[in-house]
Amino acid sequence: MSAELEWGAAMADLAWRAGHRLDRAPAQEILAWADETFGAGLVVTTSMQDAVLMHLASSVRPGVDVVFVDTGYHFVETIGLRDAVAATYPVNLVSVTPAQTVAEQDAAYGPRLHATDPDLCCTLRKVEPLSKALEPYSAWVTGLRRVEAPTRRRARVVEWDARRGMVKVNPIAAWSDDDVAAYVADHGILENPLRDEGFPSIGCAPCTRKVLAGEPARAGRWAGTGKVECGLHG
Ligand code: SF4
Repeated sequence: MSAELEWGAAMADLAWRAGHRLDRAPAQEILAWADETFGAGLVVTTSMQDAVLMHLASSVRPGVDVVFVDTGYHFVETIGLRDAVAATYPVNLVSVTPAQTVAEQDAAYGPRLHATDPDLCCTLRKVEPLSKALEPYSAWVTGLRRVEAPTRRRARVVEWDARRGMVKVNPIAAWSDDDVAAYVADHGILENPLRDEGFPSIGCAPCTRKVLAGEPARAGRWAGTGKVECGLHG
């Protein structure tokens, strides 16, 4: 077995063990383990729905790197939260962009690729830039929660991300919507203002609509297309 394969197998085993041992641990304990294990090799990713993850991670590792993918299609409120987080939280916020601007993508693939081929649009504007930004790191932290979607129900608090060859840490995987709301209230966490306007789950503007009464939180994402994930967690 090559050294690279051996390292990957060791990391996958480490993630599996930590995922079991920390399954019911508080988010801070999971992040403390990640900080001790990976140090500067740890990076936080965020879609800027709220600053819960940045608050948690920076309490364990002040100055932690935080990656945000600016797809060029975000709501102005999302960009506003990004700038507010960068100005007020002890994090190193890194905003990355796709290889092409929206205008360049329109010229190459035709206008409104999000409507004609949303999977390709997400690959170009989200998945590829994030994967490139994660390359220097050993582990990434996400705000993924099991209650968000059936596709997320089996998420572990620590997993092996075989596609990227790195460990994935989901410290709030077990949190309910009420847990998030309580943490936001208790710590005065910054939130995307759209959360109070009927958008419990916020992605790019062309692919996000308000949620109607009784609908699940992610019903407003790619509504009517059958698409439920952008591919970041696939
Ligand atoms: Fe494109 Fe919509 Fe995916 Fe954003 S969420 S990258 S606009 S398809």
